[in-house]
Amino acid sequence: MHAAILREHGEPLAIRDVPEPEPEPDDAVVRVDACGVCRSDWHAWMGHGEWADDSVPRGQILGHEPAGEVVSVGDAVSRFAPGDRVVVPFSLGDGTCSYCRRGAGNVCGDGRALGFEPEAPGAFAERVAVPDADYNLVERPDWLDATAAAALGCRYMTAYHALAERAALSGGDALAVHGCGGVGLSAVQIGNALGARVVAVDVDEEALAMASDLGAAVGVNPAALGDDESVSDRVRELTGSGVDVSVDALGIAETCRNSVRSVRPRGTHVQVGLTTEAERGEVALPTDWMTRWEVSFLGARGMPPTSYDDLFALIEATEIDPGALVHREIPLSAVSDRLATMSEYGVRGVEVVTDFSE
Ligand SMILES: [Zn+2]
Ligand SMILES: [Zn+2]
Repeated sequence: MHAAILREHGEPLAIRDVPEPEPEPDDAVVRVDACGVCRSDWHAWMGHGEWADDSVPRGQILGHEPAGEVVSVGDAVSRFAPGDRVVVPFSLGDGTCSYCRRGAGNVCGDGRALGFEPEAPGAFAERVAVPDADYNLVERPDWLDATAAAALGCRYMTAYHALAERAALSGGDALAVHGCGGVGLSAVQIGNALGARVVAVDVDEEALAMASDLGAAVGVNPAALGDDESVSDRVRELTGSGVDVSVDALGIAETCRNSVRSVRPRGTHVQVGLTTEAERGEVALPTDWMTRWEVSFLGARGMPPTSYDDLFALIEATEIDPGALVHREIPLSAVSDRLATMSEYGVRGVEVVTDFSE
């Protein structure tokens, strides 16, 4: 089968023919019909993460946002069978530890990150093996096609988990989203669906226009502000005393600090974006100010597979369309080009591999 492999950090991925995965007893093998290209792939491609013992080795099949259909299962798998339509979360739990049993499989200590480690080859491939499938695999509702579902294994579910589960965003709240790439736009759409008034922040007018289409009430372009006005000043001006919840959906020092500074007293910042070579996992924060105003700083990564029913219920009840985030469908051979384009912040919305034949 065709697969896209990390050959050297920063160099084009190699498209190679590799053996198809065979399911271990607890695995399912899924035919990949769609797989999103994400900034996390870019981080892996760039070789980021060594500062968090999280860098991806050469030889890895990348790709962690698959949706498709089960083609085979191991002997111990009971909940899934060939033909089942599924979405695969990238943050895989072992299904047995206390975190998994408490519904927090995304922070499982023995969990794996699909497409980021040799034990879990990724889904920029025609087929992907899903470990501990009974726990991790998620049945895809009839109304959700594979392309629209591709981001549900990563960016879309991460945004839901960050807002609804970590920050407890609720109707009537004000939400700021800093950085309107794939996960940021997901946060805009989901925040709006949860009943929040959304302020979208991005230096790119096209990204702000997409945010507006997805339900942002107002956009802020930091590049268009005057010298004496900061992003957080502007957010405060628009919301009174600041937002209830603010998300850094990019992960650079500037968006992280802007997001923290945007919240009201006792408000909540959620960090979703991972940092770059410039920050190496550490950002200086206004801790005295955060203490004075009792500001919370939360992290969010992925989502427990046990939360998908709640996410699907929100999508159905509010009739939002995750497919509206998909800006472009591409062949496997185009992934390298799109990763390089991410270095220039040139990618809009969500891009999805839907053709694995080339
Ligand atoms: Zn992703
Ligand atoms: Zn676990």
